[in-house]
Amino acid sequence: MRRYDAIVCDIDGCLSPEHSGPMDAGALSRIAAYNLGAQESGDRPVLTLCSGRPQPFAEAMCRLIGNRTLPIVCENGVWLYDPAANEYVMDPAITPEQLEMIAEATRWVRRELGPRGVTIQPGKAASISLYHADTAILRSLTPLIESTFAREGWPLRVSMTWLYINCDLVHISKSSGVRRLIACTGLDGARLAGIGDTTSDLAIREHVAWFACPSNAQDELKQRADFVAKQPEADGVLEILARL
Ligand SMILES: [Mg+2]
Repeated sequence: MRRYDAIVCDIDGCLSPEHSGPMDAGALSRIAAYNLGAQESGDRPVLTLCSGRPQPFAEAMCRLIGNRTLPIVCENGVWLYDPAANEYVMDPAITPEQLEMIAEATRWVRRELGPRGVTIQPGKAASISLYHADTAILRSLTPLIESTFAREGWPLRVSMTWLYINCDLVHISKSSGVRRLIACTGLDGARLAGIGDTTSDLAIREHVAWFACPSNAQDELKQRADFVAKQPEADGVLEILARL
C-alpha cells in the first residue's frame, strides 16, 4: 500500500541541470521505469511535474519520465498539461487584457533591454523570462524592470532564478498551478509529496504532506524539507523515490 499518491517535482535543478549541459539520460530512464511501474501497479506514488519551464519543454520531460496519467504544471502555473488527454489548459484567471499587457511588456523588453544583450526565453505564453550571458548584468537590470512595470501599471512579479529573471502575472504561480492540479484530479494534499531545489518551490512545499530536496538545493529550502538526498539533481530524485 502506498503512503502517497503523487509526487510533485520541479524540473530544473531536480531532473535536469540548471546549466544548458546534457541531462542524465540514464537517471531519467530509471525514473521513467519507476513511473511506469507506479502506474501499472499503483504501489507507489506517480511522479508528476511543476515547473517554470514553457509547456513544450515540460511536456517533453513529462513524456520522458513516463508520466501518462497525471497533469503537469508548466510556466509557473500558466498551464496545466494533461498527458492522458493531450490537453493544454491555460489558467482561466488569465484574461485577454492581461495577455495583451504581456505582449506590450515583451515589446518593451525587446526595445529597451535587447540592445543591452538581454534575450527572451522562447515558448512562454503568459509570462516573460529574461536571459543574459552575464548573470551579474542581468541581475543589475532588476530595479529598472521593476520600476518600469510599476510605472506602466503592469501587474507582473519580478523574481531572479539562478540564470533568469522571471516576470509572472501576480496572481499566477507554482502555488496556483498546484491548486489547479489538486482541484482537477481530486488528489488529497495529505497524500502528496513534493521535490524542489529553490525557494520558488516553497509553493510546492505548502501543498504537500512530505517534501524532499536533492543535495544541490538552496539551504533555505533544505531547512523546510523532510528529507535531503545525498546526491544532486536526478540521482537525488532517485534517492528520494527509493526513500518513498
Ligand atoms: Mg529548480
